[in-house]
Amino acid sequence: MSIVFLNDAFMPMEEAKISPMDRGFLFGDGIYEVIPSYDTKLVGFGPHIDRMQEGMDLIGIKLDWDHAKWAQVVNTLIEKNGGGNLGIYLHVSRGTDSKRFHAYPDNVAPTVYAFAFEIPPANVADKAIAKTYKVNSTEDLRWKRCHIKSTALLGNVMHFQHGFAEGCNETLLFNANNELTEASACNAYIVKDGVIATPPLDNQILPGITRLILLDILAKDGSLKVEERVVTMDEVENADEIWVTSSSKEVAPVVEFNGKPVGDGKIGDVWLKAQALYSAGKYNY
Ligand code: PLP
Repeated sequence: MSIVFLNDAFMPMEEAKISPMDRGFLFGDGIYEVIPSYDTKLVGFGPHIDRMQEGMDLIGIKLDWDHAKWAQVVNTLIEKNGGGNLGIYLHVSRGTDSKRFHAYPDNVAPTVYAFAFEIPPANVADKAIAKTYKVNSTEDLRWKRCHIKSTALLGNVMHFQHGFAEGCNETLLFNANNELTEASACNAYIVKDGVIATPPLDNQILPGITRLILLDILAKDGSLKVEERVVTMDEVENADEIWVTSSSKEVAPVVEFNGKPVGDGKIGDVWLKAQALYSAGKYNY
């Protein structure tokens, strides 16, 4: 039985109920996070909570919770759901209003919902057992505030479906200038001649915590060159390696892009090194 957290209490998932007048339900008016935990060890708890607070500040949701309060909810969910490999989903909506009116209401308490779900075991830097990914591509038709981790995910859902319907694990998104933004639920990278390139942080992409941790680990290690810069469709098509990253996928090697092999169609050596460094350093965040 799955135990969830709603507002002030832990309860079985079946007992968690919110009003249909909740603005999260009516407008997708909320912020969310997913934090990975492997055998009760969290990855990136602090940066995840900071990003959620930044998101709430950007959309004017006032919830006065510090890291300790979130840690208590997160750790209790892990304990009550048996540990293992879990994603902890945190969701704060603006709350329940008595009417449907677009403007932010006064004096409405945010709705806080959190639950745990099973995620795959942590990646192992081993080409023989790593899961490989196939991706296709489409024009990025989401909004111009992709840096906000909004619960209004229909744009992302439609892009993910575009990949799923073609038997792909993800869809790479390109802006109107044919420049890579990210994937529907991941950040994206290419490798060419040993150099890693990934689009810079701006309003076109989510500032992924896996991206943050990976780039910090790579910078500290210093053996792999990383460029945060515009990446074109042409570069993606001719890349030696493509990766996507997210909290539940870590560094995921992509071996097929739009039906064609990436490089030699096999997992690359730069991925091997990057995932090994990520595996060794991720619990420091
Ligand atoms: N980009 C998008 C659009 C996402 O939805 C996600 C994760 O959900 C990411 C990137 C990766 O972010 P993180 O590494 O924080 O999981």
